[in-house]
Amino acid sequence: MKKLAMYVFIDALGWEVYQKYGFMSALAPNQRKLKTTFGFSSAADPSILTGRYPDEHLHWSSFIYDPEHSPFKWLKSFALLPPQIFDRWRVRHALSKVIKAMHSYTGYFQLYNVPFKYLPYFDYLEKKDYFVPGGILATDTIFDWCVQHDIPYYCSNWRHSEEQILLENKKVISEAKVELTYVYLPHLDAVMHEHGPFSQATQDKLNSLELQITQLYQFATKVYDEVSLYIISDHGMAPVQGSYDLKKDIEALGYQYGQDYIAFYDSTMARFWWKNDSAKRDIMALLAGLSCGKIISDDELKAMQVYFEHGRFGETYFLLNEGILLCPSFMGLKMIPGMHGYEPDAPHSYSIMLSNKEIPQEIQSITDIRKTMEKELVK
Ligand SMILES: [Zn+2]
Repeated sequence: MKKLAMYVFIDALGWEVYQKYGFMSALAPNQRKLKTTFGFSSAADPSILTGRYPDEHLHWSSFIYDPEHSPFKWLKSFALLPPQIFDRWRVRHALSKVIKAMHSYTGYFQLYNVPFKYLPYFDYLEKKDYFVPGGILATDTIFDWCVQHDIPYYCSNWRHSEEQILLENKKVISEAKVELTYVYLPHLDAVMHEHGPFSQATQDKLNSLELQITQLYQFATKVYDEVSLYIISDHGMAPVQGSYDLKKDIEALGYQYGQDYIAFYDSTMARFWWKNDSAKRDIMALLAGLSCGKIISDDELKAMQVYFEHGRFGETYFLLNEGILLCPSFMGLKMIPGMHGYEPDAPHSYSIMLSNKEIPQEIQSITDIRKTMEKELVK
């Protein structure tokens, strides 16, 4: 009997959006609300593939404090060039490609809006593509596990468009050789960032995804005797209600970036490294007085399994309340109506698992997804 486990990954399809619009209820009626890991996709995706938390697989944020090993030192001079030309998204995108090629990075790489003058303080973590075996150094992924157990599988190429990915999966399925397919569909995330999670655009995108996945599943059932279908995601998406320009308030204190402190402004949090005690005291006092967010204690980081002794991800973390965007940030300059990266137990952070198979009660977190994969694949 030929069996296929089809895992369809949909970026940012959260529990709240699923509750509102529904998804795949005819083919995948079993549902589970899954807790995500704290951070962004750079933390959550490795958590899905390894079945472990960030403090075990060691991937958390893409940008880490490491002035000694920064591959961006030479970009410092770009800070002197006119920002109206060199800060354009298209220029930064092209430059990201050059840097990626220069350093032979195979993972996802993007400069976003990190200012050129601050880039030399940071290194980039995702140098290797973790969707291929050996991509995560600290532990194994489900793909390493498949290689080890001699289980033929197919993982989508995340560089391709969704249309291409669906066609490539269909072709692989038609050959009836693999036992696992990882169908990677990232575009819903972009749609919800741009239009908000509760929008006509979201509903339209879900409708077209439902059609595409249904067709792929039905095709698979003609080739295989049994197809286990799982729809999974990494995190949810919160509607953005307001924004806060933290950078402006920090800079107003008069301390020097680089000499007194280093900061990285993500879209929902700011991370700090300290060079001077009075800067630390005054900036911490400013953060402690803000009602739009909170400093995350080491105990909370430990409880979320994202505490790192080396401190390269941050010595102090300030996280905004759900729905507040740090804007402008190093990730973007514009207000957008949807964002993720808040506390894992904030209502819109939760992810989902949907399936045509019964989902065991113990599956509660995105780190549990891998257990279901292994169970599907052991003979
Ligand atoms: Zn996103």
